[in-house]
Amino acid sequence: MNARLDDRIARAAELANIHPSAASLLNFYRELAQFQKRVSADVQSSGETDVRALARHFPALIELVGRSGTELLVNFASQHLGNTAVQEKLLTGCWEQLPAASAEADPPGRFFARVLLQPYAEYLASRSDIRSGGAGPICPFCNARPVAGVLRGEGEGAKRWLLCSLCFTEWQFRRVLCPGCGEENKDKLPIYTCAEFESVRVDACDSCWTYLKSVDLTKDGHAVPVVDEIATVALNIWAEEHGYSKLETNLLAM
Ligand SMILES: [Zn+2]
Ligand SMILES: [Zn+2]
Repeated sequence: MNARLDDRIARAAELANIHPSAASLLNFYRELAQFQKRVSADVQSSGETDVRALARHFPALIELVGRSGTELLVNFASQHLGNTAVQEKLLTGCWEQLPAASAEADPPGRFFARVLLQPYAEYLASRSDIRSGGAGPICPFCNARPVAGVLRGEGEGAKRWLLCSLCFTEWQFRRVLCPGCGEENKDKLPIYTCAEFESVRVDACDSCWTYLKSVDLTKDGHAVPVVDEIATVALNIWAEEHGYSKLETNLLAM
């Protein structure tokens, strides 16, 4: 798990150089991932599985956001995260209402909860015996929605996995199938690519008008899907301008 966080931190630094337009997002993400590494170490060493125990990390997170976050986040923290009781309520609310919480929670509240819940959920998932063969559109471990697809293998053997937006579990999912509505007609499932981001594509659905991006590891074996997904925010803007809504936002609410 620590190695996975180190990979994300290093990849964020690397991509910030390659894609200057996304550098500020990637730098913020990198700081968050460094913070998550400390949360993760704490969760692993304490063995604590009560989600409310994560509230002790709020002061450091609020401090980080004060230094590097947006005004929206800073204001939310000062208005809604003033004591342990409300912090615990936010954590338990987001954790217990998956995946519905995704759509309903206040985006800034969801941001704070997810920064803390991700390392917690990833740790629990790493200890569990989940099979990655589940064919459903939500995470077989934590029920959150996928934030991206991951493509591996070439030609006829190529396969798609979905990557959980919360615990980072990957599970196999048919390539020609919309995770938003179950559409199976490939004429309704357009794929968009652009020259600037060779290894990331937009998988869209013309039935429910949702999209997710897929990171193609056969085109870039160094890609770290959760980070490459953030670095290609230009594709989100393009997709949203064309009428599609993202099936699930990433940690930065994009
Ligand atoms: Zn999950
Ligand atoms: Zn659909």
